Amino acid sequence: MRRGGDTRLQPGGGNGAGMSEAPKFSVDLSGQVAVVTGAGRGIGRSIALALAQAGARVIAVARTQKDLDELCAAAEGQMEGWAADVLDEGFYRRIEGMERIDILVNNAGGNRPMPMVEVDCETLDSLIALNIRSVYLTAQAAARRMVAQGKGVIINMSSQMGHVGSPRRTVYCMTKHAVEGLTKAMAVELGPQGVRVVSVAPTFVVTPMTEPMFADPDFSKFVFDRIPMGKLAQPEDVAAAVLFLASPAAALINGDSLKVDGGWTAQ
Ligand code: NAD
Repeated sequence: MRRGGDTRLQPGGGNGAGMSEAPKFSVDLSGQVAVVTGAGRGIGRSIALALAQAGARVIAVARTQKDLDELCAAAEGQMEGWAADVLDEGFYRRIEGMERIDILVNNAGGNRPMPMVEVDCETLDSLIALNIRSVYLTAQAAARRMVAQGKGVIINMSSQMGHVGSPRRTVYCMTKHAVEGLTKAMAVELGPQGVRVVSVAPTFVVTPMTEPMFADPDFSKFVFDRIPMGKLAQPEDVAAAVLFLASPAAALINGDSLKVDGGWTAQ
């Protein structure tokens, strides 16, 4: 979707730069085991497909079996689906019990945009539970395994809202700033044990989570006015950043946040 161009939202439709469902650059992750949470749709789906295409054995985590079946059928490479809720304690035990885990993409998350004065306790608690508590406990479970292996990379899905504030997003911004803090502190603590921890911070990405928001022309203008590149991110743009950070090319990148925001936060 590009300002002044075709305004239809095209999930998975590429960003006009010739990208298809998986980023077109070569990363070899063969022999590595990757877990991607929230992989049933949106950004997580694209990341899972990209990691599998790069040769990793991918465990895709989502709550809906049908989404997992479709994803596994679409994958070029090794993909296994785990129907699980990232809020469940049993999920963390299952991660800890894995024989090995080289890459965790801690992607599951959500948002409920609303004015701060209207935020209720249920909304606050739900978003903290999903965007902070589950991210922490999933990262902790993977870290236990990775420390025992002496190797691994954890990629936390943050947002440009983990770096700046924005209206109707007090809870979301708070939780994504927390993710950035977790990334830095884990990187400092676990780096000496061979585990890298990084964040990816996208601008608005065309996904089922954001699509309804762009039905509002005022919101659409607000967003495009703030992205110097004049277009939204596609899931493939985020998957490309994840692929790079998971790869040996990023071996010394630790505790950083890679913004995929078209320049939103540079202003
Ligand atoms: P989405 O709503 O399209 O997908 C979120 C995924 O997480 C879905 O597969 C959903 O089923 C899963 N999920 C939610 N709760 C879960 C739970 N309890 N257990 C297991 N899975 C669960 O959202 P998305 O846009 O693909 O977002 C993915 C991540 O990217 C989130 O962390 C989000 O905050 C972040 N992000 C999104 C955007 C955007 O514009 N879409 C921008 C920046 C960051």
